Amino acid sequence: MRSWSVVEVGQPLQALDSPTPEPQGAEVLIEITHCGVCHSDLHIWEGGYDLGSRGRLSMRDRGMVLPLTMGHEIAGRVAALGPDAKGVAVGEAKVVFPWIGCGRCERCASGEDNMCPNQPRTLGIYRSGGYATHVLVPDAKYLVPLEGIEAAVAATYACSGITVHAAIRKLGELPPDRPVVLVGAGGLGLNAIHMLRALGHRRIVSVDISAEKLEAAKAAGATETVLAGEDATAAIVAACGGPAMAVIDLVNGSATARFAFDALGKGGTLVQVGLFGGEMTVPLPLMAIRALTIRGSYVGSLADLKAVMALAREGKLAALPVSTEPMEKANAVLERLRDGKVTGRVVLRAEAA
Ligand SMILES: [Zn+2]
Ligand SMILES: [Zn+2]
Repeated sequence: MRSWSVVEVGQPLQALDSPTPEPQGAEVLIEITHCGVCHSDLHIWEGGYDLGSRGRLSMRDRGMVLPLTMGHEIAGRVAALGPDAKGVAVGEAKVVFPWIGCGRCERCASGEDNMCPNQPRTLGIYRSGGYATHVLVPDAKYLVPLEGIEAAVAATYACSGITVHAAIRKLGELPPDRPVVLVGAGGLGLNAIHMLRALGHRRIVSVDISAEKLEAAKAAGATETVLAGEDATAAIVAACGGPAMAVIDLVNGSATARFAFDALGKGGTLVQVGLFGGEMTVPLPLMAIRALTIRGSYVGSLADLKAVMALAREGKLAALPVSTEPMEKANAVLERLRDGKVTGRVVLRAEAA
């Protein structure tokens, strides 16, 4: 097999050849046809996250080992089964759920692999991922059938799709006409607009610093757009027709967190999703007086992936514009993403796909 791997943090990916693994136990070997290039791959590639005054979160301290094959938005075909693998057959087309936990704890047993407190086995972060010809999946239960969904699009559901689905779930029950504010109109923002519409929401306020991205948000179905400038808070409140009850911050940097928090009304919820970095200070009496909720959301569960795939299959979820590039262009795509030159989502495809 061949992989395009991080050998040194921040340095160009290298093509590495290694023996194709033979699945053991319940493992399943997938021949990769598609792998999305996610914005968080940039952070992984650069080795960590900006924690503001608390310094940096190092991926190596969290258990990342180099060389690492990144890529966690994987679609492919079952190529081989371990002797104990059940429920799948060679040749079937699947999307891979990559947020795999330890497999032994209570959270993993209850289907919350993505909340596993132990050393996770996340594909593309702690285990070899999808910038490769093959990937080993620990168990067939992490494979969801493609069944008629375009593989390049379905691959992106394994990260960006479930991330927005899980974040929207955290807003709780919402009347369909209550405005939901989305900070950030990049790939994740557009995905969130599609997901909200698929779930029946009718008022979506998209906020960004780019007028061009807001145009795309409008085309995707945002009912109001806010160009974040001097007084983003006031503009958001005006767009909502009052203080916001539901905000999802898909950027989650120091600047966006501040205006998103300030826009919240009594009983409002801010869900923080992005990994831009930085920190926020919170005026504590306002938390109490306004009975606010600030909560984080990290990717999603296997159940989220199945739910997103079902929405797509029912034709409710509009497909994100996805462009594909050959797998061996992985490094060039990553560099373009870092330089802000990617619009929409780029998915790497295997030569034969
Ligand atoms: Zn991702
Ligand atoms: Zn676990």
